[in-house]
Amino acid sequence: LDETLPFPIDIDPLSPSHMDWSKHYPAFFPADNKDSTEAMSKKKVEFADLGCGYGGLLVALSPLYPNTLMLGMEIRVKVEEYVYERIQALRKQYPKQYENISIIRMNAMKFLPNFFEKGQLSKLFFLFPDPHFKKKKHKARIISHGLLAEYAYILQEGGIIYTITDVRDLHDWMVKCLDEHPLFERISEEEVEKDPVVPYVRTATEEGRKVERNKGDKFLACYRRIKDEEEE
Ligand code: SAM
Repeated sequence: LDETLPFPIDIDPLSPSHMDWSKHYPAFFPADNKDSTEAMSKKKVEFADLGCGYGGLLVALSPLYPNTLMLGMEIRVKVEEYVYERIQALRKQYPKQYENISIIRMNAMKFLPNFFEKGQLSKLFFLFPDPHFKKKKHKARIISHGLLAEYAYILQEGGIIYTITDVRDLHDWMVKCLDEHPLFERISEEEVEKDPVVPYVRTATEEGRKVERNKGDKFLACYRRIKDEEEE
């Protein structure tokens, strides 16, 4: 971390153990350590929002899971700065709240296993990702066959990938990639509708709200990380 900057900049860590999460979630890593229990200091990020944009999902989920650490990952500097300031302002305005959310500027299509250990995450969000319409740009899509191996690695068994988009072609692409991957199974519509997080996936983000204003479609698909039989 560069201490001279007003907000923490994370250089891609060499491994998950090189990440200093105390800067992101100071309330969960008390400096004097007097009140901290062993469990507190071992706290790990469990939800990650890849390409989180302006942070609407993090802000909405924070009070629902106050003891779960959540991280937004965003490639644009200005957007990261905005989300960082937004979280600081919320923490100031509502003491003891919004301590469990933070943002990192990084390329979520690179180095993810440097940030998270195997099986660390229970939820991974891909909400309204950039569509990259042209066929030769499909490799740039944030869900692809190659990247799913990384997502499967950092997700725990039973962990969930949430995808939503207003672009039919991108939805079909994400469903195809996930259907073809041996470590993911699609969650039934009935079960998806019972998931308390799903209403926020649909409506909490800035892009989701924009789609709503424009009366666009929203295509949702959720997948469970299943057991890797080859690991037996
Ligand atoms: N999920 C947010 C929402 O629903 O409002 C933002 C959606 S926006 C269309 C896509 C976001 O993903 C942008 O903020 C973009 O900067 C970010 N993004 C694109 N590629 C990325 C990457 N490789 N790593 C991290 N963020 C990325």
